[in-house]
Amino acid sequence: MHPRVIFVGGVSRSGTTLLHRLLGQLPDVVSLGEVCNLWGTGLRNGDLCTCGDLIASCVFWKEIGDRAFGGWDAVDLQEMRRLRGSIDRIRFLPALLQGKRSGAIQTTAAAYASYYTKIYTAALEVSGAQVVVDSSKRAPLACCLGMYADVDLKLVHIVRDSRGVAYSCTKNVLRVDSVRGATLGTASPADTSLNWIVQNLALEILSRKGVSTRMLTYERLIEDPVGVLREVISFAGLSVDESAMRFLSDDHAVLDAGHSIGGNPMRAQTGSVSLRLDDAWRTHLPRTDRLLVSALTYPLLRRYSRS
Ligand SMILES: [Zn+2]
Repeated sequence: MHPRVIFVGGVSRSGTTLLHRLLGQLPDVVSLGEVCNLWGTGLRNGDLCTCGDLIASCVFWKEIGDRAFGGWDAVDLQEMRRLRGSIDRIRFLPALLQGKRSGAIQTTAAAYASYYTKIYTAALEVSGAQVVVDSSKRAPLACCLGMYADVDLKLVHIVRDSRGVAYSCTKNVLRVDSVRGATLGTASPADTSLNWIVQNLALEILSRKGVSTRMLTYERLIEDPVGVLREVISFAGLSVDESAMRFLSDDHAVLDAGHSIGGNPMRAQTGSVSLRLDDAWRTHLPRTDRLLVSALTYPLLRRYSRS
């Protein structure tokens, strides 16, 4: 049986971490965070799991590596990064979205996605959960999984106001998973705008290619977290008791650490976490940048704002 997977797709700084953490609180769900980070920094540079241990020595992730590959040492990380570089890039999206099964790119996509399938299967075995969540975000990876992998994929596409994303991307923040003081990096409002358009359009196209997709906005998730989470639960075909939703209210969530990957500061928060709309862009994003981002991302921005 193919592993059941909820893939949280969207642009960085769009609320993907919040959504994967809320999903991870549900029974029968195991949330892994950004699995794509395993190959680049997670295993090689000794990044931290949310439990506080290094990913390579965390009991949960060690068990996954053992079951999926006979141990993480058996995975050639250099080869994996080469594979990722040859498929998990925006420039490959047009070929990936064609959906042909016979080309070299499609063969590479299937090979790349097979690593994730093994990890998902192992995570379900280790946790005893029914559904695994991967918040790797990236449209090319969502495409590989949705069109070239043996997974039962539910794509949750989360969109945030482009001006909010652009402002967040101008701020450099420390990665909370890095023991080396690495940061998330920054991007110019123009670059963020183009990335926002391409990634969101690609994720939209996936639904037209037969990938089961649910679109929601970060703003609505904050406004009605309980209602939106219920929508995602229903979309994913999960059955959740009322008592299992008690961790969540209209303005806060009680979160466990879990065992997830990724460097967004929100992932480190545990206990009672307040849910507030981050709309600092309205007062802090310079007017010229605000106009630039609005112009570049219109009319997609207008359409999403009605969702
Ligand atoms: Zn851990």
